[in-house]
Amino acid sequence: SPEAPILLTVKGLSKSFRGLKALNNVTLEVRQGEILGLLGPNGSGKSTFINVVSGHFLPDGGEVWLDGKNIAGLPAHRIAQAGIARTYQIPRPFTQMSVLDNVAIAAMYAGKGLPTMEAGRNEARQWLAFAHLESKADSLPGDLNLHQRKFLELARALASRPRLVLLDEVLCGLTPTEIQSAVQLIKRIRDQGTTIVFVEHVMDAVMALTDRIVVFDQGLLLAEGAPQEVMQRPAVVEAYLGL
Ligand code: ADP
Ligand code: MG
Repeated sequence: SPEAPILLTVKGLSKSFRGLKALNNVTLEVRQGEILGLLGPNGSGKSTFINVVSGHFLPDGGEVWLDGKNIAGLPAHRIAQAGIARTYQIPRPFTQMSVLDNVAIAAMYAGKGLPTMEAGRNEARQWLAFAHLESKADSLPGDLNLHQRKFLELARALASRPRLVLLDEVLCGLTPTEIQSAVQLIKRIRDQGTTIVFVEHVMDAVMALTDRIVVFDQGLLLAEGAPQEVMQRPAVVEAYLGL
């Protein structure tokens, strides 16, 4: 809701790659309990935003405030401990490890951490059930289909019990039925109290899930507001058409 406290404040965040401004002075807020949609054409800086906020890339400048602490530039594991988890646009499981252990490792080493692998596995079983993957616990990630690999990616992110999860195109490549099931899963993630930043191109899902969207274009924050209204703004339509 608009009155919910602010969980994350990003101020003037910038990141360039060899002179290309992938993120150009981006300022935005994420409120506790919301699903914020992050949209924009290909190459507009959405994944870079996730990579910088989660500590996978160092920002060139700017601030990222979580709970009164500027976490910008901290290493990824420290940011994970602070309560931010992310998924990858292309899933990155440990291929030699079972599905269960992939999630157990995340439970052990990310977030608050757990003392033993057995404790990690107990936690992991819950998240596999949450993501409808119980029956795949002993499989290798390579034996999963795309839909299941995407859900494994979600289970790994959730296993660290994050306060904020950054989802990078989790619906990409799924069938309409699989998208519906993923939308239900994302609703359940929010309902358990986790705040979500949701990078997505599937507009039906964006409309069904998000309270508010921001649109990036060439590294700049171009627009912000209610999804229906923002998507009709001429500047946003032009950005998508590449004009
Ligand atoms: P989006 O996720 O919105 O499609 P990205 O954040 O992946 O966009 O990319 C934004 C821009 O930054 C693109 O021009 C892309 O080529 C560039 N870029 C992203 N990551 C890297 C990187 N690791 N090295 C060099 N250029 C990158
Ligand atoms: Mg991307």
